[in-house]
Amino acid sequence: SAPSRCTWKAGRPLSDSPHHYQKKALSKELKISSSILSLVGETPLVRVTKIEKAFGLQCELLAKCEFFNPGGSVKDRPSLRMVEEAERRGIMKPGDTIIEPTSGNTGIGLALIAAVKGYRCIIVMPKAMSQEKVDILRGLGAEVVRTPTNLLEDPECHIRVAERLRREIPNSHILDQYRNPGNPLSHYDTTAEELLLQCGGKIDMFVAGSGTGGTITGNGRKLKEKCPGCRIIGVDPEGSIVALPPELNKGGLQKFIVEGIGHDYIPTVLDRSVVDQWCKVSDKDSFLMARRMIREEGILCGGSSGTAMAAAVRAAQSLKKGQRCVVILPDSVRNYMSRFLSDAWMEEMGYL
Ligand code: PMP
Repeated sequence: SAPSRCTWKAGRPLSDSPHHYQKKALSKELKISSSILSLVGETPLVRVTKIEKAFGLQCELLAKCEFFNPGGSVKDRPSLRMVEEAERRGIMKPGDTIIEPTSGNTGIGLALIAAVKGYRCIIVMPKAMSQEKVDILRGLGAEVVRTPTNLLEDPECHIRVAERLRREIPNSHILDQYRNPGNPLSHYDTTAEELLLQCGGKIDMFVAGSGTGGTITGNGRKLKEKCPGCRIIGVDPEGSIVALPPELNKGGLQKFIVEGIGHDYIPTVLDRSVVDQWCKVSDKDSFLMARRMIREEGILCGGSSGTAMAAAVRAAQSLKKGQRCVVILPDSVRNYMSRFLSDAWMEEMGYL
């Protein structure tokens, strides 16, 4: 049996030492962070070789793992940017109340920031969103208001209810991820810059889903500036009406299950002119791909990551050897343990 302490003596082969595997140099600068908020961003980019092979791709397929952010999603970036910008402008200070209508991940990002900085936080979220997100929000001390719908025309939708609360509660603020320029700017300034650094400035295709549109707009703008040949692929769930040309949204607005992407209207921050091509993906293909990413690549991503990856394996067929396709994985399976991770749920929904 292997010795528990080092019994290796100078002169004996290194392979005899129980410490030989520690020879790998520490690649990151390891230091103490002043707070969890300083760990937002700088997420890993991972090659997904089994998916590449299975779909016969010639190019490199790379996953930007945004669930490594402290709140577990891509939305930590715009959340921090919007709060810091409002503080810098003197609009908001600790002790005030942050209210936000959200499908959950911006809520988690804001609730985490509110907990650290000392704000009251009220998250208004459609009831279709997962219980896991509610539990995390409550754990972070946020008050959660559930609404029956997220359809903008309904006065009881999350956006309208949040507006009503803001009028009623003194010193309360809606940062409004759907309109706040800090949302796409956080991606223009951080996510896209990281990708350019991680890829040595060479990216041939970028694939992301669109919820508020902050991710695709911010990254798309920076990549078009720095890598003009890079194709920007927007991903929209079947049942949403955001994709162009409009014929892609055949059947019009319909219920879809995947969370965080797709809408019944075009959010202000979404600039569809940066998108070269839109792909539509069904709920079933989204969840099957997310499960495959978990099972085959060990990447514990969420449902909309499956949507983006399902679109990427189609769009990247046009790329050649030596080219690169980057896919954004917005959140983790932590938010969906009782949903697509569960075989029983998948069977009940008719996806298995
Ligand atoms: N996936 C998930 C799970 C999300 O919560 C969001 C944010 N709504 C997105 C994708 C899309 O991000 P964006 O709002 O930047 O378009």
